[in-house]
Amino acid sequence: MIEFLDSHAHIFCSEYGDDSDVILQHAKDAGLTHLMCICCTLDEAERALKKQETEPFIDVAAGYHPEEADDVTNERLIQLEQLILSGKLKAVGEIGLDYYWRKDNIEKQKEIFIAQLKLAQKYQLPVIVHSRDAIMDTYNILKEYPVQRKGIIHCFSSSAEMAKEFVKLGYMIALGGPVTFKNAKVPKEVAKTVPLDYLLVETDCPYLTPTPHRGKRNEPMYIPFIAKEIANLREIDLKTLMNAVQKNYQRLFSKD
Ligand SMILES: [Zn+2]
Repeated sequence: MIEFLDSHAHIFCSEYGDDSDVILQHAKDAGLTHLMCICCTLDEAERALKKQETEPFIDVAAGYHPEEADDVTNERLIQLEQLILSGKLKAVGEIGLDYYWRKDNIEKQKEIFIAQLKLAQKYQLPVIVHSRDAIMDTYNILKEYPVQRKGIIHCFSSSAEMAKEFVKLGYMIALGGPVTFKNAKVPKEVAKTVPLDYLLVETDCPYLTPTPHRGKRNEPMYIPFIAKEIANLREIDLKTLMNAVQKNYQRLFSKD
């Protein structure tokens, strides 16, 4: 039995309503051993941490998404810090920059990104980074504000050359549904060239459902379609790929 994992899933977001139990069961049935729940609000994080008490294969990360930047006050940063202090979070994220969504508040996005990088560094947590149409600024900020435990560039959508630069900084590259899309030349190139010990898989559900389920709501149980495509592109077997991915996940998220 091949052990899968999903390094980025939003299963406690509102799109799923109360379906989290069903989704978790599907994920277990599909052979997932780890599931990183990305929480974009503190309410989501609370629900995820509550569920974790009975579902220890869940890990929880929380942070303010760049789409939220305008609404992130000092008070909300302090609330995030208090949550970090509970010791229950595995990472800060997702955090980052999104110039596809908004270009009129770039400075604010940067400010909130940097504030959260500093929190991750202060409490020695890895970060999960969102970057859309903002790859150079993301790179420069990660370089300028180093996080000792590094992290993931999630749903990596830039070039293979840029992926190499992030790997040089120590960051892992996570690929999701787009790698399965027929015309996705760039993610396929990234899947082939990222060093195996810096590669992760994710669904980013509920978005970006992989082929052949495009159009349906995405779930962690679809991770094997993503992993199979990456294994095919690299011409290695699925088990070899997932063994490496499991090791990468452990190396990043376990403290010793
Ligand atoms: Zn996400």
